[in-house]
Amino acid sequence: MGVAVTTAMDWLEPLRSSVSELDSAGWERLERLYNQVGTLAATVPQFADQATRSRSLLAVRRQLAGCADQELNDPVAGAIRQTLVQFCIGFHDLDLRDAVGPGHGAMILAEASQPIAEHWQCRLDRGDLVGIAATEWRGGSRLQEITTRARPAGRDRWRISGEKVWVSRLHESSAFVVFFRDPDNRITAGLVDAAAPGLHREVVDPFGLAGWSWGLLQFHGVSFDPAADLVGPVGEGLGVFRRHFSRFRPLVTATALGAAAGVHSFTTTVLAAKLTEGALSRIRDNALIVLGRTYAEITAALLSALTTSRLAAMGHPGADLSARLGKAAGVDAAYRAVTDLAPLLGAAGFQRSSMIAKVRADLTGLLYADGIHDSLYRSGGRSLMCQRSSTKHDEPTQQMRSPSSR
Ligand SMILES: Cc1cc2nc3c(=O)[nH]c(=O)nc-3n(C[C@H](O)[C@H](O)[C@H](O)COP(=O)(O)OP(=O)(O)OC[C@H]3O[C@@H](n4cnc5c(N)ncnc54)[C@H](O)[C@@H]3O)c2cc1C
Repeated sequence: MGVAVTTAMDWLEPLRSSVSELDSAGWERLERLYNQVGTLAATVPQFADQATRSRSLLAVRRQLAGCADQELNDPVAGAIRQTLVQFCIGFHDLDLRDAVGPGHGAMILAEASQPIAEHWQCRLDRGDLVGIAATEWRGGSRLQEITTRARPAGRDRWRISGEKVWVSRLHESSAFVVFFRDPDNRITAGLVDAAAPGLHREVVDPFGLAGWSWGLLQFHGVSFDPAADLVGPVGEGLGVFRRHFSRFRPLVTATALGAAAGVHSFTTTVLAAKLTEGALSRIRDNALIVLGRTYAEITAALLSALTTSRLAAMGHPGADLSARLGKAAGVDAAYRAVTDLAPLLGAAGFQRSSMIAKVRADLTGLLYADGIHDSLYRSGGRSLMCQRSSTKHDEPTQQMRSPSSR
């Protein structure tokens, strides 16, 4: 019997039995949001210049700002819902990945002082966007080697100097969570206002994910108040980073999988139309195999992302490992699915105006952003060996205890 899988909700329907956190009303709200995002996505000009496009993406975020999670009182249900929302958003357009939810602002809500967190909850609810500034020239996969530094300036303030690279939401963010070395050389996270004097931006033209501006963020003695603007305790930067990405990576993964599911549904629709019109007399086995395999891989990876979100929201000790490996494997699955599906549409999918071409370019960016994959697999493998080693010898060796989170 045939099953038409043409919308994100069609993809999610068989997974409902695996998601006990959402009741029928929750699923109905999700479907309404999915349709609303679809309507708003159509208002974003596809081929406008970057500034125009990013303005309309921010406008979509602001229009959806009222769509707060009904499930927010329950952190696990909220995390599951956000994961499903990201899948729905990715189905429409990867550039809308920040359309709903706190994004990197989640670090402020989870780790900043209560007044700062409350202030930012209001701003995020109004649609403000927060960027993350972690990566430096020495390599984003080695956060432990950052050189951006805060030095004391008078009795109560610090001044931050250094350079961050490949920062997304460069012009659209209202503030950045910045990772730097405090005056005692410990890695610390802090909140820097986007309008802070001494902050300079240099835009770089990306290959995909061009919705937000992207590039270099330089700190020339930016004034910082350690009494108010720390994100997490001083010296706890690596912990802030690790806890955030345990929650954030499954969301990225679900967004990528939503985009791949969108390409899959588009491909089946086009092939079905060709069959109906008589342009094809039958669908060859090679196409059917790709459709079947990629459907199974996307669904399996999405279930894994949902599990990771659940573990992260519960504070389960396995969440970090699951998030690292799940992001690498899930985004790889999405990328591979789109690469394998694209030829089934022929050269039509190679046109710049084709959504297939855009998704392929966008997914390329997610192979690096939020953790480059060989580093994630490698650090995952190291964690697994560390677990074996500590089971066997009780204590891990010093070498195996060294952090490798990305
Ligand atoms: C679209 C996009 C958006 C992004 N947004 C942001 C953002 O908002 N904020 C932010 O801070 N960053 C952002 N990044 C940066 C991203 O987080 C980094 O690209 C990623 O962490 C990898 O870092 P890197 O590119 O410096 O690569 P590297 O860390 O230099 O790694 C490159 C390669 O070198 C390998 N390698 C590392 N160490 C060694 C070694 N000792 N020997 C041999 N090989 C090694 C790695 O495994 C990898 O294969 C973004 C990137 C992209 C593409």
